[in-house]
Amino acid sequence: MPVRSSTISRRVLTNRNIDRLPQPAPRLIVDLAKIQSNYKKLQAMAPQSAVGAVVKANAYGLGATEVVPALADAGCKHFYVAHTSEGEEARRALKGVDAEIFVFNGFWPAELPALRAFELFPVINDLGQAQQLDALAQDLPCAVHFDSGINRLGLDARETAAYLDGELPSRLQVRQYISHLACADEPDHPLNRTQLERFSAVAEHAESTIRCSFANSGGVMLGPSYHFDVLRPGLALYGGAPNPSQPSPFKVCVKIEAPILQIRDLQPGDPIGYGATWTATRPTRTATVAAGYADGILRACGEGGMARLNGQPVPILGRVSMDLISVDLSDYVGEAHPGDPVCFLGDDLDPLASHAGAVSYELLVRLGLRFNRVYRR
Ligand SMILES: *Cc1c(COP(=O)(O)O)cnc(C)c1O
Repeated sequence: MPVRSSTISRRVLTNRNIDRLPQPAPRLIVDLAKIQSNYKKLQAMAPQSAVGAVVKANAYGLGATEVVPALADAGCKHFYVAHTSEGEEARRALKGVDAEIFVFNGFWPAELPALRAFELFPVINDLGQAQQLDALAQDLPCAVHFDSGINRLGLDARETAAYLDGELPSRLQVRQYISHLACADEPDHPLNRTQLERFSAVAEHAESTIRCSFANSGGVMLGPSYHFDVLRPGLALYGGAPNPSQPSPFKVCVKIEAPILQIRDLQPGDPIGYGATWTATRPTRTATVAAGYADGILRACGEGGMARLNGQPVPILGRVSMDLISVDLSDYVGEAHPGDPVCFLGDDLDPLASHAGAVSYELLVRLGLRFNRVYRR
């Protein structure tokens, strides 16, 4: 087999050109312009509604500090997070730009100082929380979550009836009524209709100052009857497919570029990686790439998961380890060199997630912390 030396050793190294040499650290490239165009696509799909944005879990792993202002620039005025701490981050990121931020996980009196300091609006999930908010901070705007069938958070059927009968503090500054779909990614699931009917009955009671919000990404795709006043997409903004069995109109806005650290030529019988789970049956050129499960490429992405080099598919060989992944260059057309970026995610986000028995959400929110993060505007 030919001896392959790294291209670097054949270059003239001087201190003047050193910063232009290939870098071994993996990069995470987030395209904020694509997030904005996904936002505008959602707006075009629901011209009668406002488009809010769910930016929980660090904007699905992409970086709330950068993503939140990009969405505000695109016109977003309603942000949603799971935790109060995420709301703080979103508020800081807005740098004074006016927008409402709602916290899904409920009203917890211990968090009142933080809610006040960062102007965050709790989402009331039961009547007890409504009473506590009424007692402690009636002037703090809030949303009320009515459970319409997912049975996780929100007022249950009995509490919903009691609330609508006025058995509750009426001094609350309620800005939104929300509910959440359980099966929006399965358009034919009968629970979608059932939930729509239940939430529509609640929405009829909303005063004109209260906006109703029902549709997550999948819900937007279910059509106008699901849209109400404010959409609440997360995944679609970042380009995940709301319904993996249908082509998605949204663009994936994140990719990993992990450089090749070494290129190797294996002989038939040579194994690769931990557990020696894959063995060459023909002469095989492989590249060892600087990314692994520490970067969020799940171990389950191994053996057959797809990466790309210059747009050409290069399958993952053997196990994904913490810092390294081996890919097969045997069918790669062209010369590959150490330092060349091997690409993960991008348009392969959904296929890679399903190969791993995961969903695109999981791959996004597990993106690692040690990337050199690059934001394109
Ligand atoms: C996460 C979440 C969303 C966003 O869901 P996507 O499927 O990512 O669009 C909307 N509403 C609630 C209550 C959520 O928890």
